[in-house]
Amino acid sequence: MKKYSKQREIILESLKIRRDHPTVDMLYEDLKLQMPNIGIATIYRNVSELCNCGQIRKIKCEDGIYRYDGNEENHIHFECNNCHKIFDIKLEEKESKKINKELQNLANTINAEFDKQEIMLSGLCEKCKKQ
Ligand SMILES: [Zn+2]
Ligand SMILES: [Zn+2]
Repeated sequence: MKKYSKQREIILESLKIRRDHPTVDMLYEDLKLQMPNIGIATIYRNVSELCNCGQIRKIKCEDGIYRYDGNEENHIHFECNNCHKIFDIKLEEKESKKINKELQNLANTINAEFDKQEIMLSGLCEKCKKQ
């Protein structure tokens, strides 16, 4: 049990540092350098547990692949249709409240109450726009 929590700590640390929203494969490539005995199934299990306790976010991309995010700042995502990178767009608290209010208004139209929003914008990033 102890061994597992140590691995989870390392996985979480790695996700907090990275800003490239890695897939499990990308995490595996990186983590096996630190932990040569780690298996990809262990990473799958740990990221899904980290998601369940809300410590990281899971993002489903256009291609259907899940990516993981340990950035704790309040932010939404932008996915580039060309290079498929995911960018963070930081949200100030004021903006975040405004957006949530608008979304609640929308939810009200079906008499629902929402508690979570995952906003994903897509288009062309700055670099791809110039090409
Ligand atoms: Zn791009
Ligand atoms: Zn992010």
